[in-house]
Order: sequence, then C-alpha cells, then structure tokens
Amino acid sequence: MIGQRESVSGAHFAFTDRWGGVSAAPYDQLNLGGAVGDDPDAVRTNRELAAKSLGLDPDRVVWMNQVHGNEVAEVTGPWTASHVPAVDSLVTATRGLALAVLTADCVPVLLADPVAGVVAAAHAGRPGMAAGIVPAAIDAMRSLGADPARIVARSGPAVCGRCYEVPEAMRAEVAAVEPAAHAETSWGTPAVDVTAGVHAQLDRLGVRDRSASPVCTRESDDHFSYRRDRTTGRLAGYVWLD
Ligand SMILES: [Zn+2]
Repeated sequence: MIGQRESVSGAHFAFTDRWGGVSAAPYDQLNLGGAVGDDPDAVRTNRELAAKSLGLDPDRVVWMNQVHGNEVAEVTGPWTASHVPAVDSLVTATRGLALAVLTADCVPVLLADPVAGVVAAAHAGRPGMAAGIVPAAIDAMRSLGADPARIVARSGPAVCGRCYEVPEAMRAEVAAVEPAAHAETSWGTPAVDVTAGVHAQLDRLGVRDRSASPVCTRESDDHFSYRRDRTTGRLAGYVWLD
C-alpha cells in the first residue's frame, strides 16, 4: 500500500506501491489513476484506502489533470467543480490539505518548506522535466514565502536511466536542456535519466535536502510501469503539512 513514508518537521511525504487495493488486472491492485480505463468505483475505493492508511481524509486530497506541461496551480481546498485543471504541479499553504501526483514511470516530486508552511507536488516526466515543471513549482512556493534553502525534496519511484531507452535525437534534445539527464541503457543504447535531471535542477535552485527513491518502476514488480505494461495503473505521491 504505502511503499515509502517520511516525516520531516511536520511535513509528510508518502509514495504508494501497487498492493492493497481492489482493482482487477491489469490495474491490480491499488490503481489510483482515474483516467486509465479502470472501474471508477474501484479507483474511488483505492483512494479512500490509501488516504485512510495515511491518516488523511480522502476529501482533503487534491488531484490534478496531468498533461506533461509546466503549469502550476495554487490550491486552498479541494476542487469545488467537477472540472479539474490541467496542470502538472500543485502548491498550497493550507495545512492539512494533501497534494497528490500520479505516475507510472514519470518522476513524482514532493516538496515542502516546513518553516514557511508551503508544500508542492509535481509530475515530472521527460517532457515536463525539460519544460521546467520543477523550477516552476519552486517559483510558486517562493511566492508563498518558501525559501529553497529550507525546502525538503523527495522524488519517488520512477523508471531509471538504465531502463529508459529513447531515440538518439531525443536524448540529445533533452540533454541540451538538462545535461544531467543524459544516460545510457544497461544494454548500451541512448537513454534519459529524468530523476537525475530533476535533482540537478533542484540543486541549481539551492535545494540541498534532497533524496530519490532507489526503486525503478520498470524493474519492480511492486510498482506500475507504463513502459513495461502500457495498460496499467498509477502510483501516487502525497505531500502535506500538519
Ligand atoms: Zn531501471
């Protein structure tokens, strides 16, 4: 259910794995994504189960409609309308409100400045990382009083640089924007390391308290992987303040 959980000075970070939910194959078991073809009732139940295991009210978890862009939305409560904005990062200064990001190979990035009381969640796939979704999230946090020197950053399970094969031209295009993302697969072909790109960006922005999950989703049977399975579920990362 919850694969990784950490608390730092009243800021909480959690990443799910694929177990402990009610979804049937190929979304088994804890699919938290609402736009992947799974039964909506199963997704609702899974979101309730995950929230409960984190001690969260499922109605105080904010999701987003992720589109691989670099737009950030500031939120102060759950979406009131049925329309969920197309953004790849959420930021809030509202305590007790959890921000959630969905992934299955992309990098889920959770950020918190416990002193300023500001948190953000970001969805950083290859296009979003290159488009600067992480710097955009840090900017939005700064506008709410956060200081990068105090920000705690945690990235979750994602496809690793030894598994994420891309055409040579795509690797060159991404590396031109973020050299740290230049990688090679374990079988010797061009690859992209999105997690390395995210952490290089955070480092340049002055975020020092950083760590990355050691889990590669494509290699782990305990995690959903789009590149391995195509039709599959979504993992979630959650960040919130007491
Ligand atoms: Zn891997």
